[in-house]
Order: sequence, then structure tokens, then C-alpha cells
Amino acid sequence: MFTGSITLILSIIVLVFALITKIGWAKSISISLLTCLIFGGTFMLYFTAITKQKESNFGVKSLMFGNSAPRSEAIPIAKGQQEQKEVVCDKQDYESLPRDARFYTVRIDDIQDDYYYDIVESMIADSEVLGIKPVLGVIPDKIEGSSKMTNLLRKKKCMFEIAQHGLDHERISVGQGEFAEFESLSYEDAYDKIVQGRDSLIEMGFADVETFIPPENLLSQDAREAVEDIGFSQISSNDEAHFDSSASVYQYNTKKIFSPHEILTNCEDQWLGKNLCVITVHPQDFTTLDGEVDWLAYDFYFYDLLALLNSEPDTYSITFAQYSNIYNY
Ligand SMILES: [Zn+2]
Repeated sequence: MFTGSITLILSIIVLVFALITKIGWAKSISISLLTCLIFGGTFMLYFTAITKQKESNFGVKSLMFGNSAPRSEAIPIAKGQQEQKEVVCDKQDYESLPRDARFYTVRIDDIQDDYYYDIVESMIADSEVLGIKPVLGVIPDKIEGSSKMTNLLRKKKCMFEIAQHGLDHERISVGQGEFAEFESLSYEDAYDKIVQGRDSLIEMGFADVETFIPPENLLSQDAREAVEDIGFSQISSNDEAHFDSSASVYQYNTKKIFSPHEILTNCEDQWLGKNLCVITVHPQDFTTLDGEVDWLAYDFYFYDLLALLNSEPDTYSITFAQYSNIYNY
């Protein structure tokens, strides 16, 4: 159809030129061809530009349908000074949630610089799309105030609650043994490390951190007292206390990853005893053995889990701080 139109236009121009100018058929054909070349070229350039724009718009759409492409391309991060602005969060409407509902907290640990940034960005974006507010366990000594990750957290800070995940997350050797960062610490040592981490987070603009998550969920009794004395309202570890981890997407000792339905079954067991299920997940849970990002695993074990939880009746996402505010914990 396109070729037919061009031929018709060309014929009309040749006829008009030959009749009006009387410059002969050969010259008329040459002038007409040149005119078509100029107009045709301009039209093709315009057509190509429009097609490219449509393709880039489609990138945003793919985020909603959960395909396996890296989503970071679809969510441009503002650059420069704009990211340094203080973000003021609106009051959330969680206080109107029914008190007899089933609650779950999605706890995302090991947030640090240059560590699977694309996955973290997708986790935040997909949670936002589904209206789920996760808790992010940030490692204070492994994140810089001006880094890409910090800028993302600052920009999106109303979309999650930030928790302090230890100080540097390093294991400690004592004699022949090796312990998790806060597993064997004295009160004084724990106190100093926690304050150091808390101060770093405050410097980065995260002053309202209320939850402490010890690395590997392990905390000595002295360290627990230090956390409480410093003023954290919630501790999420593995002592079977109220905010402790109820289910893990990936279990490190057995190297097993759990499907969305297995996690839901786990939560249903929890909900028989209390109305809060804490689901722990890490960015590195969705990588291959070589450490490459596995977007298919991400889609199935993270996005589909959130979608499943979101579709459950009388079931709501909540952060630790929100839960404490509602129930005066
Ligand atoms: Zn951790």
C-alpha cells in the first residue's frame, strides 16, 4: 500500500510538471524523482523516531506483567542533587486496618552498596506496585551516604521501613570457634557497635530506625540488652519472640528455596498462634550458583509470593513499626 501511494504521487507530479512547465518528459521525471527522494527520506526518519519512542514506553509496561528482563531499565533513577532532597512521608492509612486480620512482614536483609542493586530496585518497585511495604535490613558499614543504593533508599523511603542489620555483618573468630557478628558479644562491645551503626544511618538521613535485625538472626543475651537500652522498639531474630523470622524464602543450611505456597502454608501455621508472619528474604536468594541474577527465580519466588500473599482474603502487609503502633508493642 505504501509503495502504491508513492507511485501514484510520483505519476501526478510528473504529469503536472510536464503540462505546466513544458520542460519535457525527461526533465519532469528527474525533478519528480528528486522531490520524492527528499520527502520520502524525511518521512522515513520521522517514522523511525516514532517507533523507537514506542519501544521505550513499552519498557515500563513490562514491569507490571513481571517478565524476566532486568527492571532497572524501566525505572530511571533521578541523578544529582534532586536525590538529596529530604523525603517527607505521608501518614499511612495502616491504622485503619482491621485488628482481627492476618498480617505479614516481608523482611529483606543484607541491603548494601553494589550488592545486586537491580534486584533490590525491583523488590522495592514490585512491592510498591502490589501495595506491600517491606522492611529493609541495611548493613550500616557496607553502605555509603552518597552511593547509588543510598540514593535509591532515600528516594523511595516512604515505600518501606528501614531496619539496622548489625554493623558490618562480618563473622567473628573467638578461639577455635566462629560466631555471627552479635552472637557472642559482651554488653559493652555490642553497645558500641550498635551505636556506631545507628549513627551512620542517621547521617545518611535515616533517623527513625526502630528495628534491629542481628546478622544470621543470632544475638547474645548481653547484646539483646544493649539493643533494648539503646532504644530500639523491635528486635527481629530467631528466638521465637514476636517479631522473629517465621519463614525464609531460602534456607542456607539446607540450600533449599521455598515456593510461594510453601511459604503461605508456613504463615498459616504461624497465624494459628499469633497474627504476624515474618518472611525473610535476601537479594542473593535469586541468583545462580555463579552469582548471576536469575530473573526467572526472582519472578517465581519473590514476585509470585507477594502476589499470592496480596490475593489472600483478610491478609495484610505491615511493617514492624506499624504493627507496634497498632498493638502498642
Ligand atoms: Zn544478613
